[in-house]
Amino acid sequence: MPAKPVPPGECPQCWQHAHDKSIHRRLKPREDCTPCIDHMVNGCPSLVPKKSRWF
Ligand SMILES: [Zn+2]
Ligand SMILES: [Zn+2]
Repeated sequence: MPAKPVPPGECPQCWQHAHDKSIHRRLKPREDCTPCIDHMVNGCPSLVPKKSRWF
């Protein structure tokens, strides 16, 4: 469970990795975070939808 809710228009993974340092602390000092690299290279596959107009 993320500490903060992901705001609309943000990538859930990038948001969680940016705010939950424990995710990256599990990596070795020189180890890259694969999901973060993937989003950096390929872009974020899915963003949290904005709630306007949908309800
Ligand atoms: Zn990461
Ligand atoms: Zn992302």
